[in-house]
Amino acid sequence: MTSIAIIGAGLAGSTLAKCLSDCADVTVFEKSRGIGGRMATRYAGIYEFDHGAQYFTARTTEFQTALKPLIADGDVVEWTGRVVSLSAGNDAVELKRDDPIYVASPRMNVLPKHFAEGLNIVVRCQIASMSKDARGKWRLTDNEGGEHGPYDWVVSAAPSIQTSQLLPNDVSFSELLSQVRMSGCFSVLLGFADRLDVDWQGAKVENSPIGWVAMNSDKPGRETSPSVLVQTTNDWAEANLENDPDTVRQTLMDELKAVAGIDTSAAKYASMHRWRYAHTPVPLGQDYLIDEAAGLAACGDWCLGGRVEHAFTSGSSLAKAIPI
Ligand code: FAD
Repeated sequence: MTSIAIIGAGLAGSTLAKCLSDCADVTVFEKSRGIGGRMATRYAGIYEFDHGAQYFTARTTEFQTALKPLIADGDVVEWTGRVVSLSAGNDAVELKRDDPIYVASPRMNVLPKHFAEGLNIVVRCQIASMSKDARGKWRLTDNEGGEHGPYDWVVSAAPSIQTSQLLPNDVSFSELLSQVRMSGCFSVLLGFADRLDVDWQGAKVENSPIGWVAMNSDKPGRETSPSVLVQTTNDWAEANLENDPDTVRQTLMDELKAVAGIDTSAAKYASMHRWRYAHTPVPLGQDYLIDEAAGLAACGDWCLGGRVEHAFTSGSSLAKAIPI
């Protein structure tokens, strides 16, 4: 049986692994302690936050079909919460939706965990390098010196920059890979004693360092104390990535008060997460990258545009292209 190592257990890596698992010997390596990558959930006592992906669309038939059983079981739910546009000094304006939007329930990582169920996933294992052995098979080394392999194929399902650091420089698609650009984002996580007095569940914010605010605990299935999630625009994050985290967090809390009238001094819990690679202003423009002669490939949201649906499409398309 063809042996395949997949680096990264986000949605792209989990989807790819699931699609290949019946006909190949698949091992997934994940550096974090859990599955899901940027479809992440932060637990903080009585609070819980989707501090990565907020919601997702399902525009392709393939993704809609894959979601059907999850929707039937209530693991994925259409989010009908009121989403508005906000700007300082102006009233909230309700935004119309072109497509239904979904959340996994009760937390976003339910979706990647569904695809990863029953697979061979090695967590807390950061792959640091790879090389070919005398028989032409791939061997992986993790950052603690552990060795893994041999494998016929290695696929990186990590963000594009980490993928280019991991794969050998002479992989045939290195030039294409280097053209992808990803950008950062800060997420501020706020927990309150009482539900906030706002009449919306999500807000796109205009002319502000803040790009998005969600009443996280109002999303379907969340049974946590009032939790609010704030995300910056990517441009503001890029300009402030290396700044003092406490200053960044306070700036964003002050800004939240200015644009949404939320008294952030009443927060019982406040923390911040810096995403170095969150979104993809310049995607690859094709579903995946593959070098058949070398037995190397790469997939991820960054191939198509940087959204949950793109991660799924990239992983499932690559599964059809690997000759096994
Ligand atoms: P990832 O989820 O990044 O998975 C890659 C995995 O590889 C990670 O788990 C990482 O730990 C692992 N990894 C990396 N290097 C190594 C290594 N060396 N060894 C082992 N493991 C490694 N999308 C939407 O559709 N809607 C939204 O509202 C939305 N909002 C977002 C908000 C934020 C703040 C962020 C960060 C993202 C958002 N996205 C949104 C994007 C969405 O989260 C991604 O498109 C999707 O989760 C990407 O999945 P992926 O599998 O391609 O990558």
